[in-house]
Amino acid sequence: MLDMLVVGGGYVGLAAAVAVKQAAPHLQVMVVEAAPVTAWKKDTRASAIIAAASKMLEVFGVWDEIKPEAEPITRMIVTDSRTSDPVRPVFLTFDGEVAEGQPFAHMVPNVAMVGALRGACKRLGITIRHGVSATDFKTEDASVTLTLSDGSVLETRLLVACDGVRSKLRDMAGIKTVNWDYGQSGIVVTVEHERPHEGCAEEHFLPSGPFAILPLKNNRSSLVWTERTPDADRLVAADELVFEEELERRFGHKLGALRALGDRRAFPLGLTLARAFVAPRFALAGDAAHGIHPISGQGLNLGFKDVAALAETIVEADRLGLDIGSINILERYQTWRRFDTFRMGVTTDVLNRLFSNDIAPVRVARDFGLGLVDRLPKLKSFFIGQAAGTAARDNPRLLAGEAI
Ligand SMILES: Cc1cc2nc3c(=O)[nH]c(=O)nc-3n(C[C@H](O)[C@H](O)[C@H](O)COP(=O)(O)OP(=O)(O)OC[C@H]3O[C@@H](n4cnc5c(N)ncnc54)[C@H](O)[C@@H]3O)c2cc1C
Repeated sequence: MLDMLVVGGGYVGLAAAVAVKQAAPHLQVMVVEAAPVTAWKKDTRASAIIAAASKMLEVFGVWDEIKPEAEPITRMIVTDSRTSDPVRPVFLTFDGEVAEGQPFAHMVPNVAMVGALRGACKRLGITIRHGVSATDFKTEDASVTLTLSDGSVLETRLLVACDGVRSKLRDMAGIKTVNWDYGQSGIVVTVEHERPHEGCAEEHFLPSGPFAILPLKNNRSSLVWTERTPDADRLVAADELVFEEELERRFGHKLGALRALGDRRAFPLGLTLARAFVAPRFALAGDAAHGIHPISGQGLNLGFKDVAALAETIVEADRLGLDIGSINILERYQTWRRFDTFRMGVTTDVLNRLFSNDIAPVRVARDFGLGLVDRLPKLKSFFIGQAAGTAARDNPRLLAGEAI
């Protein structure tokens, strides 16, 4: 029988397996991933990884491998204007360090992160079963029996669902969600530009939603471009000329000539919060527990915080000789994480509603607020600490860079 079975071999599932196995090597840990073995190599996207999350990756021993591919965010600017405005006044600027030489976030190509986490799984002896999905499970007193799409059956003391925002396991466990659709989609595309970005990230609040420019290595940037869903679908399907013209209207000319590289994809955006994170011998982590708007680039970082809290809860229970699947133990994890994820879900929801519109009095009020923050250095450093995840009082040990 396995001790912990993780369903979903995305960033959160892989990190959960590594965190537990590294701290408790005697536990039998396995990951099941529906996608074929090489699918992850085709992901051309990148994610903003905050300082606290990169500390956890350091403890895993994978950050040195990821770092050469990661672009530090050294500065951030925020504007608020209409798409057609010739000049975008800057309302807020942040210097991107939480401490000397420590950027508040890095932009990390997903391929580099998943590749490094998969390498750690291999070194720790964690099996990853590919190309099979979890189709059903049954919970008994001392174990959970999971059935896979190839008909095989696995038995485990604890089942951890990291199967993404449309989690089937969450539904099978009877856990309800609060959820709504924003009617917006996030177009993700990489662009190459003539001049260097110098590590500066930009968030332009435009009436249809935020347009984020996030720095990558080698004069490239990753864009998260929010539009109303029908417009986003039209843009993704448009020919290169139309797409690049629309892109230039939003991006501007300050980095010289632009070229969109590779795939463009639109992700429908919504808010999904699970009403419970645990059930007997069952826990949710990552997007399976909370899918939020990418306005603040925090979705995956919240998932990494789940991983650190869940691993600390399980490993401490195991060291005391307690049953890691018992609901009393798992409730500690739920208490630790539910309020924080709810707060972040609500914050991103409010920010999106506040900024994704062109209502004049709302615009005046929000720009006044941004200007005020810009003039108060203490408030600014508070926000940077929050965004970097280093200021949180409830941080699990892994996010403080300490082994469990
Ligand atoms: C446009 C956009 C931009 C974003 N940018 C950022 C950012 O900059 N920073 C940030 O922190 N977050 C960002 N996010 C959020 C981030 O992408 C998600 O939070 C993250 O992908 C969640 O990881 P996960 O492992 O929980 O889920 P997923 O990445 O969805 O992985 C789930 C895995 O489970 C597998 N699976 C599903 N069902 C089964 C099954 N039944 N059996 C077996 N396997 C299964 C899937 O194949 C998949 O590999 C962004 C999101 C969007 C939409």
